[in-house]
Amino acid sequence: MSLGLYIHIPFCRTKCLYCDFYSVRFDPDVNRDYIRGLGLELKSRAVGLKGRPVDTVFFGGGTPSLLSVKDVAHILEQVTRAFPGWPGEITLECNPGTLSLEYLRDLSGTGVNRLSLGVQSLDSGSLRVLGRTHTVEDGVQAFHMARRAGYRNVSVDLIFGVPGQSLSSWRETLQGVVRLEPEHVSVYELTLDGPSPLKAAVETGKVRLLSEGLLEDMYRLTRDILEHAGLRQYEISNFGRPGAECLHNMNCWQYGEYIGVGPAAHSFIGGRRSWNLPDVTAYLAAVIRTGSAEAGHEILSQRDAEFERTMLALRMRSGMARDRISGNLSKSFDELRNAGFLEEVEGRVRLTVRGMLLSNEVLLRLR
Ligand code: SF4
Repeated sequence: MSLGLYIHIPFCRTKCLYCDFYSVRFDPDVNRDYIRGLGLELKSRAVGLKGRPVDTVFFGGGTPSLLSVKDVAHILEQVTRAFPGWPGEITLECNPGTLSLEYLRDLSGTGVNRLSLGVQSLDSGSLRVLGRTHTVEDGVQAFHMARRAGYRNVSVDLIFGVPGQSLSSWRETLQGVVRLEPEHVSVYELTLDGPSPLKAAVETGKVRLLSEGLLEDMYRLTRDILEHAGLRQYEISNFGRPGAECLHNMNCWQYGEYIGVGPAAHSFIGGRRSWNLPDVTAYLAAVIRTGSAEAGHEILSQRDAEFERTMLALRMRSGMARDRISGNLSKSFDELRNAGFLEEVEGRVRLTVRGMLLSNEVLLRLR
C-alpha cells in the first residue's frame, strides 16, 4: 500500500480575499524555526512506521514557493533521513508572483519533479476580485519558466465561479491554459465557507455570487474544453494527460494512508485519523517538547470507514464496482440514480455531471 507525505507550509505574503485556510505572514525567523520543527515531527512520525518508505511528497500551503531552494533541499534531506528510499513524485505548490527561472532551475536539482502552479485565472478582473497578488502575465510566465527549467509535469490550478466572471471570460481562461499544454489542470469552484473579506462582501450585498445555472454551464464547458484537449477528467476537480494524474492525491482518494506534517495537517494510518494543532507557535512548542503536535484523533467505525471509502471512490471518474453497493447504500444509490446524480456504466457506479456539480450534497445523502 502506498504512503503519502503532505508537508504543510503555512506562510503567505498577503492574504487572498477569499481565503479561509490557516496561514500566517511569511517571516524568515519563524520559517527557520519551522523547518527545524518539521524535522522533529518527521523523525517522530517515522518511528511508528518502522522503516516504511514514503511514495509521494506534496508541499502544500500556504505558499511553499516562499521557501528558499536551500530550505526545500533541507526538508527533503530530513524526509530521506527519516524514511528509507526516495519518493517517486515530489510536488511543490507555487504562486506565480514568487518565481524566477533561476529558482525553478535550482528547485529541480532538489528532486521536486512536479509543480502545481496557482494561476487561478487568466482574467485580470477575476484575479483582482480574488485578491491574488500576481497578474495574468505572471501566471503565463510562470508556466513558461517551469518549462525552461526542465519541468515536464506541471499542473495549473484554476478557480471558476468568481463574482463578476462571465462564461466567455472563463472560456478564454480555459483556452489560454490549453494553449500552454500543461500535463494536468485542477479546477475548483469558488467556495466561501469560513470568514473572509469576499464572504463578508457577499453577505452585505456588495458582491453577488454567480447563479447556479451559470456555474453549471462553466463546469460543463470546463469538461468539454479540457477533455477535448486530451486532459482526461479523472476526479471531480482534476484533469490530466494519461499517466500525469497526481499520484499523491490519487492515493488519498483511493483510501490510501498518508502522513501530514505541520500545523492543522491531517494523517491517516491504520484506520486512525489524527490532526495537528492549527497554529504555528503552538505547533512549534509541541514538537520541540515531544516531537508531536497531535491535537486529536479518531478511529473510524467500520460503518464510517465504508462511508468514507465510498465518498472518495465516487469522487473519481472510475467510480466504484456496483457489486460493492449493498444494504442501505443500495437504497440511496437507487434514489440518487433516479434523481440523475449517479449512473452505472459497465458495472461501475459514478457521479453524473450534475452529481459532480452538487457532489457535497449528493454524497452526504449516501449516509
Ligand atoms: S496563497 Fe493560498 S493559502 Fe495563501 S492566502 Fe492565498 S489562497 Fe490562502
